[in-house]
Amino acid sequence: MSDIIKRDFSEKSFINDMKSCKEILWVNPKAGEPAQLPFTMEDIDDAEARLKRFAPYIMKAFPETEATNGIIESPLKEIKAMKAAMEAEVNEEFPGRLFLKCDSHLAVSGSIKARGGIYEVLKFAEEVAMKAGMLNLEDDYSVLTEDKFKELFSHYSVAVGSTGNLGLSIGIISAKLGFRVTVHMSADARQWKKDLLRSRGVVVVEYADDYQKAVAEGRKEAAKDPFCHFVDDEGSSDLFLGYSVAAKRIINQFEENNIICDEDHPVFVYIPCGVGGAPGGVAFGLKQVFGEHIHIMFAEPTHAPCMTLGLITGLHDEICVADIGLDGKTAADGLAVGRPSRLVGSIMETLLDGCYTIEDCNLYPYLSKLAISEKIFIEPSACASFSGPMQFTKCKEYIKKHNLEGKLENSTHILWATGGSMVPEKEMESYLAFQ
Ligand SMILES: *Cc1c(COP(=O)(O)O)cnc(C)c1O
Repeated sequence: MSDIIKRDFSEKSFINDMKSCKEILWVNPKAGEPAQLPFTMEDIDDAEARLKRFAPYIMKAFPETEATNGIIESPLKEIKAMKAAMEAEVNEEFPGRLFLKCDSHLAVSGSIKARGGIYEVLKFAEEVAMKAGMLNLEDDYSVLTEDKFKELFSHYSVAVGSTGNLGLSIGIISAKLGFRVTVHMSADARQWKKDLLRSRGVVVVEYADDYQKAVAEGRKEAAKDPFCHFVDDEGSSDLFLGYSVAAKRIINQFEENNIICDEDHPVFVYIPCGVGGAPGGVAFGLKQVFGEHIHIMFAEPTHAPCMTLGLITGLHDEICVADIGLDGKTAADGLAVGRPSRLVGSIMETLLDGCYTIEDCNLYPYLSKLAISEKIFIEPSACASFSGPMQFTKCKEYIKKHNLEGKLENSTHILWATGGSMVPEKEMESYLAFQ
């Protein structure tokens, strides 16, 4: 155990529970405090505008996005039957309406990584094409499907380290554009993800080690090559801003579903967290768009609660779960991360309202319940958030801190389903058999 943890934390009891892999719920005492953030609404607008420029390209390159005119976006679905099933299980109701944000069903790569991951590669492609004098801001970007662009991009490469889904997203879009692409996969990555990438011409390098090692190797490889763009999941601003665009797109979905977000109608959003980039970007966007009455909670596995540990100790990426004796091993493969992003931890210090953890064995019952009650199939990582609504609506400390007495009847709860639609049927059957 490192010396770092011998310091006397005021939050010691949380750390002790985390050490023994107990589920915890932590209310962030610094939530809402003023802070100097590295991004603004303008950055989100810029990312949104870039994705709009690319929409004609996406529509042509991925015909499954025709229905949404090349905008990769997921539905927000009310899940009444799931809510009833969750309540029946514990014989207790929770107030408010329950929704699922189906990033599990995002086009192209079937996970939340279809936001940030695709965005970062598109931004790189735009830079390369503009520098070559072959693309202007006003052009119809569908020209990027032409061979002359593939030829241009073939002189460049993209590299990334991943537990799986980021690799899928970066690999698929990079290969489609014509970049050479290498994905460095950690031991947690599922075989089918590696197979799928290889079938699309992506070079997959496998490591027997964890995610951090895969990222480090990717970084090292990329540094040797000046024509290689490294997608740095541990600190990329582009990834972060790509994710944040989700917040602007959800405004209409709130209206369509009569979801109000104000002082008397709190909205709670529960997002599974790995390194923190995806949930962090979404959280940042939501707070920019909706302000303090949107409450954001991150969910992590008990064996890899890196963001929670970084926030509770205030050490962010200077502490990792191994420092408190945890192995980082979890069936939630997308969340098998030992150390939080160096970019996101400090941003979350005042933006995030709370964190909680879940044991692996509690993921599968949610996965099955959702499959049975709503016919929606998601992966284990995406189920990490499901215990949130029941816990936070009962948490007296939280209700008091945010002055929510009497308001929860008007609340809305959104579970951010982060991945799953590309899981092969056989694999999904094995998840369902776990319950
Ligand atoms: C990547 C991922 C997350 C978490 O995103 P991070 O950026 O690693 O925090 C959650 N769920 C799934 C399914 C993922 O693939």
